[in-house]
Amino acid sequence: MEENKNNEYNEYRRKRVKRFKRIILVSLAFFVALPNVLCVFLFLSINKTNTYIQSLAEELNILKISEVEKVVASETKSTYDAQSLVEQDFVFKVLPDAEEYPGYQRIYLTFDDGPSRYTNELLDVLLKYNVKATFFVLAQDGYDDQYNRIINEGHTLGIHSYKHVYSDLYSDLNGFENDVNSVSDFIFEKTGTRPEFYRFPGGSSNTIYKGDKNELFDYLSDNNLVYFDWNVASNDATFGGLGKSQIANNVLNGIKGKDEAVILMHDANDKHSTIEALEIIIQSLQAEENVVFLPITSNTEPVQHIKKKD
Ligand SMILES: [Zn+2]
Repeated sequence: MEENKNNEYNEYRRKRVKRFKRIILVSLAFFVALPNVLCVFLFLSINKTNTYIQSLAEELNILKISEVEKVVASETKSTYDAQSLVEQDFVFKVLPDAEEYPGYQRIYLTFDDGPSRYTNELLDVLLKYNVKATFFVLAQDGYDDQYNRIINEGHTLGIHSYKHVYSDLYSDLNGFENDVNSVSDFIFEKTGTRPEFYRFPGGSSNTIYKGDKNELFDYLSDNNLVYFDWNVASNDATFGGLGKSQIANNVLNGIKGKDEAVILMHDANDKHSTIEALEIIIQSLQAEENVVFLPITSNTEPVQHIKKKD
């Protein structure tokens, strides 16, 4: 009898200890797993927020451009004088082309988001070093001279969007078509030239457009527009801004090993450091042999993050 009781008690104790152990194990597993799950969740949401902040920053910058547009237009005085260029007998109409430079490393400087208060200064630097580049512009009033300078000085004038407002241009296919048409018409009206090159705001790989991107690619090619992304980022649009040496280093390191380097830079009201970096980049590369700066032309191999899927 006594033994039986003891056995029962022992059995009871054993079960209790077992249950207790299980509770401890489950709690341990829970407290170990929970922070991990939370970390993954936080990481994902931080990433999403970052992308969102970047796109907001970009839009905010464009809005700032429109706000200061009028002031800037009256402030902006160029050192450029159309007549003096004619007198110096510059011939800019024939763009230098990749085909003329076999065996060279080909550098394509591209500037998005202009014109800005700095476009004239930027063009002055390019003129000083006789470097040709590509501008993917927006439709901005008060910059007629800058649009025409870009073309007349032998650069390529491509389009970027009407006002860089994602909610308009990436709303749907119709919104995209309207945006492209509006900026193309705007440029034609200002310069008498239809742009042939396009750069998607946020790149062709942007995740903002929710529809079928093939329709956008079709629309561009149906309208004789070739889109270009980039394979070197200067990161001059980094939130908070980078100094000239950092931007120049990003470019000089980024082009290493590339026969064709399409460099993303910006022509924007808050990015003077881009122009300072530009001088460092040009001086450094012009000191090297077999490196040439070229504007994008129909002979340039397109750099595209996403291509049309068949
Ligand atoms: Zn842009």
